[in-house]
Amino acid sequence: MSAPARDAAIESALLRVTGLSKSYLGPQGPLPVLRGVDLALSAGESLALMGESGSGKSTLLHLVAGLDHADGGAIHIDDAEVTKLDDEGRAARRRKTLGVVFQQFNLVPSLTVGDNLSLQARLAGRYDRDWRDALAERLGLAALLDRYPEQLSGGQQQRVAVGRALAPRPRLLLADEPTGNLDEATGDAVLDLLLELSATAGAAVLMVTHSARLAARLDRRATLAGGRLAP
Ligand code: ADP
Ligand code: MG
Repeated sequence: MSAPARDAAIESALLRVTGLSKSYLGPQGPLPVLRGVDLALSAGESLALMGESGSGKSTLLHLVAGLDHADGGAIHIDDAEVTKLDDEGRAARRRKTLGVVFQQFNLVPSLTVGDNLSLQARLAGRYDRDWRDALAERLGLAALLDRYPEQLSGGQQQRVAVGRALAPRPRLLLADEPTGNLDEATGDAVLDLLLELSATAGAAVLMVTHSARLAARLDRRATLAGGRLAP
């Protein structure tokens, strides 16, 4: 791509991350995790985020989701600068645009599988029972709708987390190792679903994975190392 074409592509991207930095306070002072991360992702595009354990992948996703504050740099989603919104504004942006699959699932223990699956879609005002049931079917959860998260295996909980994030048909899906607890065939089925959403609804997908095999199925790959993102 020529430089002007690339600049235009970045300008029109759904997600734009520029110069993002983040440190955590450790016992010996600040521990820099992100040291100037740049990233652009367009509608319909999928990116595999790779990198060693502790390289900052989850931190980057949390910042993009607006769940934590960056020290420097900017995150734009559409025309909104997420890094400048207050907590309320971030939450509204999250409901409107984002689907998030957390590494630790974050299911609501007091809600059934069915209600967990519906939760984000209801909050976004986009609940669609047929779509929820179709997702449950695709994710092998149809027989488990009345169960509670604690009655599920890790892999089943992970699939609920994926379905919950997809139920509102988000335009930007952030998924933190969404196949980490799944066997190969189930992991493939989950990725099929994510890529289908990307292809049919034009969603952008940012997925953390340790699997080179799964990463190869996404449009692009990038690796976090030393606090920076390299293609
Ligand atoms: P990854 O997801 O790539 O494994 P993380 O983003 O979870 O990496 O963590 C990056 C680094 O930041 C690690 O050294 C981790 O221990 C540290 N870290 C993550 N979250 C926190 C936190 N809330 N407080 C302090 N340190 C943290
Ligand atoms: Mg992580």
